[in-house]
Amino acid sequence: MTKSKFLKVKCEDCGNEQIVFNRPAMNVRCMVCGNTLIECKGSVGDLKAKIVAELE
Ligand SMILES: [Zn+2]
Repeated sequence: MTKSKFLKVKCEDCGNEQIVFNRPAMNVRCMVCGNTLIECKGSVGDLKAKIVAELE
């Protein structure tokens, strides 16, 4: 099972960087443009944005 962690991702639409959980309970959207950054899949989310950094 993949470890739960926080990821710093970059929105591919507007370049906004945002911290997201890799196992989200709901879809997470970019706070700036509303683009979906990670989709809830019940376990590990489906990441739609580019990972900038992984946080422990
Ligand atoms: Zn955005």
